[in-house]
Amino acid sequence: MIWETVIGLETHVELATKTKIFCGCTTAFGGPPNTHCCPVCTGMPGTLPVLNGRVLEFAVKAGLALNCQITRYSRFDRKNYFYPDLPKAYQISQLYLPIARDGAVSISTEAGDKTIRIHELHMEEDAGKLAHDPWIDQTRADYNRCGVPLIEIVTQPDFRTADEVIAYLEKLKETLQYLGVSDCKMQEGSLRCDVNLSVRPLGGGLGTRTEMKNLNSFKAIARAIGYEAKRQIELIEGGKRVVQETRRWDENKDATYAMRSKEDAQDYRYFPEPDLPPVELTEAYLDELRQSRPELAEEKRARYRADYGLPEYDCRMITSDRSLAAFFEELTALGAPPKQGANWIMGEVLGALSQRAMEPGDMPLTAPTLARLIALVEGGTLNRNTAVKVFEAVFDTDGDVDAYVKEHGLEQVNDSGLVREACAKVLSAHPKSAADYQGGKEKAFGFLVGQVMRELKGRANPQAVNAALKELLGS
Ligand code: ADP
Ligand code: MG
Ligand code: ZN
Repeated sequence: MIWETVIGLETHVELATKTKIFCGCTTAFGGPPNTHCCPVCTGMPGTLPVLNGRVLEFAVKAGLALNCQITRYSRFDRKNYFYPDLPKAYQISQLYLPIARDGAVSISTEAGDKTIRIHELHMEEDAGKLAHDPWIDQTRADYNRCGVPLIEIVTQPDFRTADEVIAYLEKLKETLQYLGVSDCKMQEGSLRCDVNLSVRPLGGGLGTRTEMKNLNSFKAIARAIGYEAKRQIELIEGGKRVVQETRRWDENKDATYAMRSKEDAQDYRYFPEPDLPPVELTEAYLDELRQSRPELAEEKRARYRADYGLPEYDCRMITSDRSLAAFFEELTALGAPPKQGANWIMGEVLGALSQRAMEPGDMPLTAPTLARLIALVEGGTLNRNTAVKVFEAVFDTDGDVDAYVKEHGLEQVNDSGLVREACAKVLSAHPKSAADYQGGKEKAFGFLVGQVMRELKGRANPQAVNAALKELLGS
């Protein structure tokens, strides 16, 4: 029997608003437990929620970018359940009239291009966090995250492989980051993904699914999919049945475990949220958001290819982060040749960032500083190797490139008299190498160039050194 894996995703994304969805508390990640809370987000009796306009704006922007139909008249619903991380004992969500529906996201994998259909996108509030302390066998509750705004994006069961799932999540992450609606940091939980998976004989009807939670990296998602598909196939081939349930992925054991049998919507006793009015959107509001949409990564890549002739690889690297792309565009606007700018970003900039475990958005070096450095190389004042040393010296403080070059006497030696003099000196100090080269040993030439560079403290213009040496050697 040939088995096919069928996967649908429910992705929760924390929105990058400054304040929570229904109160003025900060959404900042971390902070001492229970310091980002107020009576509204902890559900004290008599308090009332007020919808944060930014949450609506971000949700609509996301819906539009994912090619959804925006619901002109939407509503919130109350999802009732009791759990210690939810002090209100209900979550305000959207069940009946989600803010956006029927979208589509195109992805490409090695297997080709494909469209993933979005079933719906809705707004809701996050719950708090529980930390179990095994030492004292107690669980502590931190309600800082209660009321942090989320959008949940639900796909149709359109995925067949882990590759497709990862390609979709990368596209989603890129789109939401470029829109500025979320930072999508999986490690901080601002993008969380539940994977629904079933198996079926190739081309058959849908099988019974399980839902996997606690997947907090792309690696974990890929491994969990592989594990769970195999588990289900073995069950069915062994004459047993798959039970619809929620399973937890255990990163350390590389296996999934049953958590609870799956609730139905009716278990939550949903009803329309009585404390919030419905949301009605005008065409003017939607038009404004459509028009304010920034250029997305895919569009930037196409433009870099067409306008600058940059290779696909360079385009991908530069657009892998929104602030990196902004940095590149500022460099070119300041006159840096695009390919030079791209090379510096892919080489020195990304290298320096990864050495410091730093995000591009937190980079101290500014584009004008690097643009100046590139201009000095282009203009012949610095050679590339010296420029890299200057780069390392100014990176952490965004230091003054010209001042540094002057202070350390790093200007490239372009004076042909000086270069010739140094070459002559090296040739008379190394007559054997000179003779070797003249006798046909190409390798000796590199050695001689190195010696001249050393003589001029690395600041010589390499072309000038090559030319002067060749002339003196009579070749
Ligand atoms: P629930 O209301 O129980 O959460 P939904 O109908 O909202 O269920 O589906 C949740 C997710 O599960 C969606 O992403 C959907 O595509 C996916 N899904 C539904 N049925 C299957 C199935 N048989 N196999 C794999 N995924 C499925
Ligand atoms: Mg659901
Ligand atoms: Zn609050």
